[in-house]
Amino acid sequence: MSDGSSMPELSQRTPQGVLWAYENWLPLTKDTPRISLGEGNTPLIPAPGLSRKVGAEVYLKLEGANPTASFKDRGMTMAVSKAREQGAEAVICASTGNTAASAAAYASRAGLECIVLLPEGKVALGKLASVAHCGARVVTIQGNFDEALEIVRFLTGKYPVQGVNSINPYRIEGQTTGAFEIVDALGAAPTYQAMPVGNAGNISAYWRGYKTYHQAGRLKGLPIMLGFQAAGAAPIVTGKPVPHPETVASAIRIGRPASWQTAVQARDESGGIIDMVTDEEIIAAYQLLGTLEGVFCEPASAAGVAGILKLARGGFFKAGDSVVCILTGHGLKDPETAISVAAQPVTLPADGQVVADYLGYGQNRS
Ligand SMILES: *Cc1c(COP(=O)(O)O)cnc(C)c1O
Repeated sequence: MSDGSSMPELSQRTPQGVLWAYENWLPLTKDTPRISLGEGNTPLIPAPGLSRKVGAEVYLKLEGANPTASFKDRGMTMAVSKAREQGAEAVICASTGNTAASAAAYASRAGLECIVLLPEGKVALGKLASVAHCGARVVTIQGNFDEALEIVRFLTGKYPVQGVNSINPYRIEGQTTGAFEIVDALGAAPTYQAMPVGNAGNISAYWRGYKTYHQAGRLKGLPIMLGFQAAGAAPIVTGKPVPHPETVASAIRIGRPASWQTAVQARDESGGIIDMVTDEEIIAAYQLLGTLEGVFCEPASAAGVAGILKLARGGFFKAGDSVVCILTGHGLKDPETAISVAAQPVTLPADGQVVADYLGYGQNRS
C-alpha cells in the first residue's frame, strides 16, 4: 500500500444512500444485499419568492436529485434489496413512468429481470427513455394505471415475480427516509408538509416516517400533512374511485389509489387536508417554480405548490409557519410539457446588430 495521501480503496469508502444513512430505521438484516445507486440526501432549499407569496417560510425538497430523478428511488433501493435477499429473479411494476424508471435501474444493478406495465399513452418521454435505457421489458397495457396495477396483483399472486409497486411494504419503508431527512435538516418538523397524491404511497410513507421519529423521541411536534390531487384524478377528495382519471400531471393520473386508507389516516391523524388543484393551477405553479425559484420539477410535483398557493389565497397560513413542499420528480422527465407551456424561442439572422435591436438595446447604447 502507498502513503496516506492516496485515495482509499473503493471497498473501504463509506457507501452512500439511504440504506446506510438510516440503516437502524429500516428492516435490514445482515443478509440483506444493499442495492444502491446513492439515493437520498436530497437538497432542502429555502424558496424566498414563494415564501413571500404564501406568507410562510417555504422550503422545497428536491427529490428530482435522486439517481433516476424521482423519490421512487428511496423505496426502490429497499424493495429491490429485499427482492434479492429473498431470492427473486424478476421484479414487476405498473407505472405512470417513475416507478418503472426506478425499478429498471435498481433491477439492472441487482442483476434481476425487470418487467414494467405502462398505461397506454401519457407516459412522459424522459421516463420511457430511462426505462428503455436500463433494459427493462416494457409492456404497454391497453388501459390505465389502475388496470395495469390489477395485472401486477394477478401476476405476483400466481408466478415467481416480485411486485415493486408501493403495495410492496418495503417501498413505503424506504420512502420514510424522506421524512427523516427533513427532520434531520431542520432540527424539527415543519408546521406543514405539502405534496402531490397519486397512488398515495408517499404521503403514507412520510407520515409513517414522522411518527417513527416521534415515537423514538427524535421529534417533538408532528407536521400537518397537506396532500393535493389533480382535479381530474381526485378520488380521495371526492370519496369515490375515478374510472377515467385525466390530468396533465401524468404521475398522479390515478383513479383508485392503492394506499387510499393510509393516506386518509395521515390526513386525519395529522389534522391535515387532502384537496385538489386544477391542471391550470398545476401548470401555473410549475412555471412559477421555474421563473421565481429556478427550480425545474415535473408537473405532478408542482401540485403541492399549487395547493399551498390555493390555501394561501384563502388566508390559510400565519406568519412564522413553515411549509416543506416535496418536489417529487425532475422536470427533465417530461420535456414535452415543459416545451409546450414555455414561450417559443425566436429565430434571427446571425447579425449582432439585429440581435441587439431585437433585445431592445438602442444603437447608442452599444
Ligand atoms: C409517483 C409520483 C407521485 C405520486 O406519489 P404516490 O406515492 O403515488 O402518491 C407524484 N409525483 C411524482 C413525480 C411521482 O413519480
